[in-house]
Amino acid sequence: MQAVAANWGNDREVPSELAINLATVREQFGLKEAVEACAALGIRSLGFLTDQMRAVGLPEAVRIAEDNGVRVTGLARGGIFPAALPEGRAQAISDTKRAVDEAAALGAECLIILAGGLPAGTRDLAFAREMVCEGLFAVHQYALLSGIPLALEPLHPMYAADRACLNTLEQALDICDLLGEGTGIAFDTYHTWWDPKLEEQIVRAGKRRLLAYHVSDWLVPTRHLLFDRGMMGDGVIDFCRMRSLLSGMGYEGSHEVEIFSSEWWSRPGELVLRTCLERFIAHCT
Ligand code: ZN
Repeated sequence: MQAVAANWGNDREVPSELAINLATVREQFGLKEAVEACAALGIRSLGFLTDQMRAVGLPEAVRIAEDNGVRVTGLARGGIFPAALPEGRAQAISDTKRAVDEAAALGAECLIILAGGLPAGTRDLAFAREMVCEGLFAVHQYALLSGIPLALEPLHPMYAADRACLNTLEQALDICDLLGEGTGIAFDTYHTWWDPKLEEQIVRAGKRRLLAYHVSDWLVPTRHLLFDRGMMGDGVIDFCRMRSLLSGMGYEGSHEVEIFSSEWWSRPGELVLRTCLERFIAHCT
């Protein structure tokens, strides 16, 4: 692991495209502290989390965002549609509609959709994927009328069983093709860097459907399925290639650092944020 940054000065410029997903410091900070720590470094483009936001309540979250001049790049998450019983599927749909309302109140640029995995005790992956489509069809019109784009985020295949049976950009775009307007993809380097079809699918998405871009590195070895994402520069992802792919598409959205890592969560939050800044500039610009 490379050294952490300790000396980010206020005189240094924050790249305008840089955003921080608050998951990166979710163990150190509640919503207010996280937003204020980012704002103190000049970072005001932030990805919010539903659970962290609901812990303080929507009106307070809106106030915190407004007080700090925050642009909410996305709200994560809605979805998790597959369930063994119809009541479970209905619950996921109503919870996603609630997240659409919250995203609208926050002025978020999109709602990140996590597909959900196999319902407990089942083995029918194709049926789980059908339930994801059904759930999306059930919320799509509602989101469209609310002005909130749905950003389908495929997750690495190692999560197919328990978190997301949507695993490639191609799968996600196939669903976007069916749904049409108001849908697109969240392209996360950690989940998709390995995909031989990555470039063709980013081109296929086009600027209009590229709703979010999430950045973290793939460590070798990866020691934990969920909580061992890498700081940029510590792993094997070629961020220059990713960036040129995006600029070739005319992408103008945020580049959002999103690191789920028990190692980084164990460090002081401000140090982690400063390190994100330094590493983003060193490896992703
Ligand atoms: Zn992501």
